[in-house]
Amino acid sequence: MSHHITTFPPLTRRRALGLALGAAVLASRPAVARTAPLEVVATTGMIADAARVVGGDRVAVRALMGPGIDPHSYRQTRSDIAALARADLVLWHGLYLEAQMEEFLLKLAARSPVVPVGEAVPDAARIAHEDYEGRYDPHVWMVPDLWASVVDRIAKTLSVERPEDAELFASNAARYKEDLARLGRYATGVLASVAAPARVLVTAHDAFGYFGRAYGYQVEGIQGLSTESEAGLARIRDLVDLLVSRQIRAVFVESTVSDRNIRALIEGAAAQGHEVIVGGELFSDAMGAPGTYEGSYLGMIDHNVTTIAGALGGTAPARGMDDRLAVGG
Ligand SMILES: [Zn+2]
Repeated sequence: MSHHITTFPPLTRRRALGLALGAAVLASRPAVARTAPLEVVATTGMIADAARVVGGDRVAVRALMGPGIDPHSYRQTRSDIAALARADLVLWHGLYLEAQMEEFLLKLAARSPVVPVGEAVPDAARIAHEDYEGRYDPHVWMVPDLWASVVDRIAKTLSVERPEDAELFASNAARYKEDLARLGRYATGVLASVAAPARVLVTAHDAFGYFGRAYGYQVEGIQGLSTESEAGLARIRDLVDLLVSRQIRAVFVESTVSDRNIRALIEGAAAQGHEVIVGGELFSDAMGAPGTYEGSYLGMIDHNVTTIAGALGGTAPARGMDDRLAVGG
């Protein structure tokens, strides 16, 4: 019987300790109950940017493709595969942009949430692919109004994974779409300042089809919708003739494509006595360096439209959208 007496006090202490721990856990519940940020992997920088803006501190976003990376030819690396497999959610563009990753992503979609957010752009607003039936031009980010539907899809997708944060995602998306609308109005205004006959945009590949349709520009890419198709000599010759006959003053290099073909155009025009300059570098399929203005979606598009309008003889403010706002335009 004596062991009852000797063990009783320790049991009591242990119980008291347990209650104290329970109280501590209860007191700190708001902090520990808050779930960790949703781990999101995005293929392109533009999608990652939108996911960060919409998700705020409720998401941790990693972009697979950095500045200067061509999404048409990018293939997942070993570390990408590990990140994609570990992610809570994968956001990719779709519309056959990630041609070399599609097979892998579709397989992954069978076992975890993998969402092609670029496909939020409705069929009626898509530009059909010239060479493949049932395929579309993937470059929908070039027009902020179209990108807004992708932002909505990202907000909805995040909300499926984290319903408790749905209101936050919706309000962040709504605020971001106001920025997109402002950018769209700026683009419309500044691109209309170019004289109508000069509204011809010649670039390395066909990334600007939606841009041309939205802002009334004839767009000519030396290569097609994908950088994977090589440009023929006949294509170069035709474009040189266009530059000379229309007296186009500038062509544009792209951050994700070699400038070799653009140089060939300039030389070809020069041989016919017409001087063409490089109007600037456009961020076509990837944003600029992280931390720079062009390293955000808004900055990338502002840079593009400001550069195009300025080089083709329009009245573009030197520093883009915010310069114009500063002078009340
Ligand atoms: Zn492209």
